[in-house]
Amino acid sequence: MSDIFENTILCKDCQKKMQPILVRKNGFNLRALGCKDCNNQIIHPEDLKEYADFQNLKKKNFKVKLRFVGNSYAVSIPREIIDFMNEQENEMNEMVDLSLEEIGRISLHF
Ligand SMILES: [Zn+2]
Repeated sequence: MSDIFENTILCKDCQKKMQPILVRKNGFNLRALGCKDCNNQIIHPEDLKEYADFQNLKKKNFKVKLRFVGNSYAVSIPREIIDFMNEQENEMNEMVDLSLEEIGRISLHF
């Protein structure tokens, strides 16, 4: 099955051939076609769906339990989040950066 972006797509307003571009949104690179004349953009439907999935996941609030393990505390990161990140990154590092962002907030950087 061929990708729709392999076809020639004309701008609906100018009838000119649209060119592949990358649109960056919240850390996402979305494949798109753009018209140089009027700035019309078409985001690739697959990327648009993925972005919508991300928005839904972002809205979710997970309750996870703090567990005492050895001399540290551990929390479980929901599988849903890890699976989604795995789809985005080609390979995910097992080491993550953790820092105390502010009182009451810890950030993990994958
Ligand atoms: Zn145009």
